[in-house]
Amino acid sequence: MVNKNPPSPSFSPPSHPAHTLLALLHAQGEVARLSEREQLFSSLLDSVNAVLWAMDWETRRVLYVSPAYERIFGRSAGLLLADHNEWRDSIYPDDLEYAERSLAEVLVKGAVEDREYRIIAADGQVRWLSDKCFINQQADSAQGVIVVGMAEDITEKKQLEGELQRLATTDVLTQSSNRRHFFECAHHTFEKARQEQAPMAFLLLDIDDFKQVNDTYGHQTGDQVLQRIADSGKAVLRRGDLFGRIGGEEFAAVFPGCTPELALQVAQRLQREIQRLSFSQDEQVFGVTVSQGLTGIDEEDEVLDSLFARADAAMYQAKRQGKNQIVRG
Ligand code: GH3
Ligand code: MG
Ligand code: MG
Repeated sequence: MVNKNPPSPSFSPPSHPAHTLLALLHAQGEVARLSEREQLFSSLLDSVNAVLWAMDWETRRVLYVSPAYERIFGRSAGLLLADHNEWRDSIYPDDLEYAERSLAEVLVKGAVEDREYRIIAADGQVRWLSDKCFINQQADSAQGVIVVGMAEDITEKKQLEGELQRLATTDVLTQSSNRRHFFECAHHTFEKARQEQAPMAFLLLDIDDFKQVNDTYGHQTGDQVLQRIADSGKAVLRRGDLFGRIGGEEFAAVFPGCTPELALQVAQRLQREIQRLSFSQDEQVFGVTVSQGLTGIDEEDEVLDSLFARADAAMYQAKRQGKNQIVRG
């Protein structure tokens, strides 16, 4: 049969109702899937303890920041999107210059993955961030440079590292530097003094007749003596001086930038402080004395061990001469 009203070429016949329905269902499924994915991403972004962010490099405008921003910084994401200085204002003042310089490196390197700096959250707490940043490769060039990043809260990790460092460098009984840490720092100080041709003094201190203290009053009381002597050392020494327990009842100190004459005054003050200490055990009151050996850096000293050996010899001379005294070597 001939159609008297042929459709114009642009006219397409309506789809079969079943097709329309299928297309609609398909579209709905797609929307549902997308919304499911969005929810998934959104809950993922919400649960990671890291702030994902994107920034327009030219204008410094923050284009996106994930929900963790409000949790970690304690500030409103809306305010940050309106004013990028909000992030900058959170940075711990001492770290600001580094944070900005390391961010700018992304332009040259394409990625900066080792940035760590502190922020002050709105509640006043200092938090450590590991803030990696990258040039967004997918952004089209007309859009300008987009920098994206991920700022992870590493405060707990930093605290743990600090605690491990403290444990590794501190003598448990006296809370002063342990032998290894003391000599590590002493070596650095010695090298610096030699380079700068600056003075430096080295002191050794050994408790007199400490075996007798242990034998008479017990090991625990002996431990208290060690703790109190370490406290005296810490109290008498000046900022920047090094002090450590380098053996059982032996302590050492390094005085950077200090002539032996000046160090002698500190040693004399320490000698008096220790003599003033009073201990008691089962109603018996007793005191302790120490012998000290002191020396200063010499032009011929090429290694720290030379000073150590001279201070040690001076200390043994103090013992031979009757103890409770300071000898200069
Ligand atoms: P001198 O005047 O010649 O230095 O004699 P001294 O008795 O102090 O020296 P000696 O080296 O004979 O004895 C050191 C003692 O220090 C022996 C050891 O039991 C004691 N000692 C070492 N470490 C500790 C400690 O951690 N706690 C206690 N309580 N005693 C310790
Ligand atoms: Mg000793
Ligand atoms: Mg001793």
